[in-house]
Amino acid sequence: MDFIDLKTQQAAIKPELDRRIAAVLAHGQYIMGPEVKELEERLQEYTGAKHCITVASGTEALLISLMALGIKLGDEVITTPFTFVATAEVIVLLGATPVFVDIEADTCNIDVSKIEGAITPKTKAIMPVSLYGQPADMEEINAIAARHGSIQVIEDACQSFGATYKGKKSCNLSTIGCTSFFPSKPLGCYGDGGAVFTSDDEIAQACREIRVHGQSKRYVHTRIGVGGRMDTIQCAVVLAKLERFAWEVEQRKTIGERYNALLDQAGIQRVQQRGDRTSVFAQYTVFVEEREAVQAALQKEGIPTAVHYPIPLHEQPAYQRLCQNCNTPFSASVAKRVMSVPMGADLREEDQRLIVNAIYL
Ligand SMILES: *Cc1c(COP(=O)(O)O)cnc(C)c1O
Repeated sequence: MDFIDLKTQQAAIKPELDRRIAAVLAHGQYIMGPEVKELEERLQEYTGAKHCITVASGTEALLISLMALGIKLGDEVITTPFTFVATAEVIVLLGATPVFVDIEADTCNIDVSKIEGAITPKTKAIMPVSLYGQPADMEEINAIAARHGSIQVIEDACQSFGATYKGKKSCNLSTIGCTSFFPSKPLGCYGDGGAVFTSDDEIAQACREIRVHGQSKRYVHTRIGVGGRMDTIQCAVVLAKLERFAWEVEQRKTIGERYNALLDQAGIQRVQQRGDRTSVFAQYTVFVEEREAVQAALQKEGIPTAVHYPIPLHEQPAYQRLCQNCNTPFSASVAKRVMSVPMGADLREEDQRLIVNAIYL
């Protein structure tokens, strides 16, 4: 059993994949070729955001977004310590300070009731993470930001492309949404890729310029930028994957809900979903005590597992110094108990039953 089965998916879309890649090899525009714009238009349509700017990775999407907002030395950005390191890394790279707010123990998303207490005059942005594929409580976060004037909200939607919140698509739930096309994400390519979404014309223009070295016209550098483009060939791969994506999102939902039912029946604790949103289950995650023993037992049955994430950022060697006053007990305790099991649109029901039984025994 694979942790994420990308082979079945590839077999299903092979003709379209071959056709798309052959087209890029034929026209030879490997950087900013026609597939880049085509993908951006398709993703705008999918999310409902006015602008999509494809970039080199999810990390680059987050970095470019913060740069477009002018985040700089001395600024503070509120986020959670229970995430992939990239979320906080980009804040630190710009000389700003991540301010860690704890998560809800059941959804593992930021606890919105604790955000207001972390706001200071230096707060410039809130960066919630839609962890495991389920959007955070974005409406409430937007409302908190609006109450405090000029605070912007960036959704780290690197795991949640395809998810919804109150009927709206993830990536289009706040001023900016950022996603990743890392191969194992719900919508992946065959290398690195990512995208920034916004409906703000000025922010979109800033992101487009920052993506190409702050260039407004050829060799005119209006601002400081990065080399942050997504390859044409990777855009072609994502275009091919879109063929089946709507079906995959539905499958993920069905499979996630089946896991929920099987685990509840077996009395095994799991990450919860709120009724006003749908998850794409980028990871399917349960809570176990004695994690190493459970992982070893599953390994024996040929079932791979993973831990997202074993060490919260406030305990990481490179980030500890930022956390003199961190009050993030749930992030610390949950990190010791989470375990992700195989998940994907092609996961078979019999394998799900096998997995749940193996955890139970
Ligand atoms: C994957 C991920 C990123 C980074 O995306 P890359 O494309 O690997 O750079 C950032 N934040 C979260 C929450 C992620 O899961």
